[in-house]
Amino acid sequence: MSHAEAQVHLPHVVIIGGGFAGVSAARALRRAPVRVTLVDRRIYNTFQPLLYQVATGGLNPGDVTHFLRSLRTQQPNLDVVHEHLMEIDTDARTVRLLDGQEMPYDYLLLANGVTTAYHGTPGAKENSFAVYSRSQA
Ligand SMILES: Cc1cc2nc3c(=O)[nH]c(=O)nc-3n(C[C@H](O)[C@H](O)[C@H](O)COP(=O)(O)OP(=O)(O)OC[C@H]3O[C@@H](n4cnc5c(N)ncnc54)[C@H](O)[C@@H]3O)c2cc1C
Repeated sequence: MSHAEAQVHLPHVVIIGGGFAGVSAARALRRAPVRVTLVDRRIYNTFQPLLYQVATGGLNPGDVTHFLRSLRTQQPNLDVVHEHLMEIDTDARTVRLLDGQEMPYDYLLLANGVTTAYHGTPGAKENSFAVYSRSQA
């Protein structure tokens, strides 16, 4: 049996989100007997703690991001898919992506992050700039 054929029979772990959580989980599975697919709607990981510096012109946007596909060079059991999660079918154990593909999983890890919370403060949303993504910064 070839290496590729052997891989197909391994449990498939699908991770949604290539932020701190998703990337850490993928790395932790580096030597595990599984196939890992990391799905993110963006092609890059963002180091959010430095977005303030991008917003204030101290850093370039490219300084706080790195390409998720580069993880593959260090991890043979990892595949990176640039797509948007649309739907989860827990009975069929599949996720549906924006391009229409149904991706089967044995284990699903949701690490799709959070966004700005205004905690119900009147006027906060209308009078502030959110700094959660590279484009917002
Ligand atoms: C400005 C700022 C400063 C911060 N400073 C600090 C700090 O100093 N110290 C600290 O500990 N923390 C800090 N944080 C918080 C920290 O950065 C976050 O807690 C952390 O990045 C969250 O990681 P995560 O992996 O859970 O989510 P994220 O990093 O948000 O990653 C989620 C990923 O999921 C992807 N995704 C979302 N929905 C979908 C979908 N439907 N389909 C496909 N992909 C999807 C997104 O593209 C994203 O890549 C800061 C945050 C911000 C915004």
